Amino acid sequence: ARAQAMEVDASPEVTYDDIGGIDDQVREVREAVEAPLVNAEQFRAVGVEPPSGVLLHGPPGTGKTMLAKAVANETDATFIKMAGSELVRKFIGEGARLVRDLFDLASEREPAVIFIDEIDAVAAKRTDSKTSGDAEVQRTMMQLLSEMDGFDERGEIRIIAATNRFDMLDEAILRPGRFDRLIEVPKPAVGGRERILDIHTDDMTVDDDVAFADLAEGLDGYSGADIAALCTEAGMFAIRDERTTVTRQDFEDARDKVEAGDEGAVTHDG
Ligand code: ATP
Repeated sequence: ARAQAMEVDASPEVTYDDIGGIDDQVREVREAVEAPLVNAEQFRAVGVEPPSGVLLHGPPGTGKTMLAKAVANETDATFIKMAGSELVRKFIGEGARLVRDLFDLASEREPAVIFIDEIDAVAAKRTDSKTSGDAEVQRTMMQLLSEMDGFDERGEIRIIAATNRFDMLDEAILRPGRFDRLIEVPKPAVGGRERILDIHTDDMTVDDDVAFADLAEGLDGYSGADIAALCTEAGMFAIRDERTTVTRQDFEDARDKVEAGDEGAVTHDG
């Protein structure tokens, strides 16, 4: 079960340069996660407790997973990812056991960055219904909190969680000593969108008539993931046409296609 539920990457390839439009968030993550790993001695000497856990929250596809991978890359740490939904298991005690496995693996592989995506799946506010499923989820969350409480002895392990549903979270996980550093990761503004277009066309042959600044203006509401998809789609138009250069028209056609399709449709919600 361990192998299936966790994604382990000894050296993720994502770097900070691959992440566009969220420079403040990159800085905050570096301060909260990278600095304590790299300067552990200094933190000890000064007597400052680094944040226990960092919670990234914001819309889907904005770069939260990339941030966690880039920090692991930069610190030569093993990246260990678990989806919260994987922790919600059928059998009693299974979720808690997976949480233990997760932290055990991290201490075997330290320095390590644990990334728990969709943390809301195990840490949603308690509902009124006292079904057994809820109780099991609750136990899994308790196990997670208790592993985090035993952190100091564990050495060089940092933990990052992510959610698209910040409003749903149980406050218990946000208390000091738990996920006590919150970083909001928003959809990119126009300058960020231009930077993300640059990043995702880096390996593409793009015609001189393509003006990313103009294109970015028209992509209000696009996440980084939406922009990545747009660039791929534009490239596909060129390939279908048996051209080797991607033109302005290809990007416009790609945008029309992305916005017309229901699947992965861009949500203009901010
Ligand atoms: P989710 O909440 O759905 O898990 P996420 O915020 O973790 O999403 P990522 O998995 O980091 O999003 O991003 C998905 C893909 O979208 C990335 O692999 C990358 O190609 C692209 N992308 C997203 N955000 C950015 C960004 N800020 N800069 C460059 N590329 C981005």
